[in-house]
Amino acid sequence: MTVAENLVNIQNNIRKACEKANRKIEDITIIGVTKYVSIERTIEAIDSGVKHIGENRPEGLLSKKESIANEAIWHFIGTLQSRKVKDVIDHVDYIHSLDRMSLAKEINKRQEKKINCFVQVNTSGEQSKHGLNEEEVHAFIQQLKEYPSIHVVGLMTMAPHVTDETVLRTTFRKLKLLKEEIEEQQYSHAPCQYLSMGMSNDYMIAIEEGATHIRIGSELVGPYEE
Ligand SMILES: *Cc1c(COP(=O)(O)O)cnc(C)c1O
Repeated sequence: MTVAENLVNIQNNIRKACEKANRKIEDITIIGVTKYVSIERTIEAIDSGVKHIGENRPEGLLSKKESIANEAIWHFIGTLQSRKVKDVIDHVDYIHSLDRMSLAKEINKRQEKKINCFVQVNTSGEQSKHGLNEEEVHAFIQQLKEYPSIHVVGLMTMAPHVTDETVLRTTFRKLKLLKEEIEEQQYSHAPCQYLSMGMSNDYMIAIEEGATHIRIGSELVGPYEE
């Protein structure tokens, strides 16, 4: 399948999910996750109309960005080690994985301009998943105002690896409620208007539950040749 064909299917699914939830398709941003594919396949995605590219490792982001540069908006979606911040900070438009104060401090030290961040929340309770526990999110975001470079545009989560629709919906709904609570505070450093949730296997449910940014890898740029 070409990326263009995959993209048509995804756009159809987005349309259906939006109709069901009475939402506008313009409010959904597709982030093409290219971590498993080549630069060529990434360029194919961009040529097909994908404007946002997500990578989960600094090396992957930098090597692609070197060839593609400003033809895309760059999202860092993976766990970010503090010592890698200086390598990626000038090359990303959004960081989806802000999950600890030490990382905020390092970002702030390395970047004077404001950088758009999603605060990552662990909604599944799985130890292996990164992100703050839900109870920690309010205090964390409040404290982030000490770091003028950090601009919190939203919350991000990775849903648990299950097929149970009820579990997925509950997860996404929790994140949406949390996002709304923070939005109500009207923090100038944390407008928190977006929700980064939904991947290849659950993005339609995520959209029905309020996702604004969906991160799609396999369904967009796959199937992968192993
Ligand atoms: C890999 C990855 C995705 C995309 O996963 P697919 O299931 O291939 O769509 C989304 N978000 C994060 C954080 C990822 O690491």
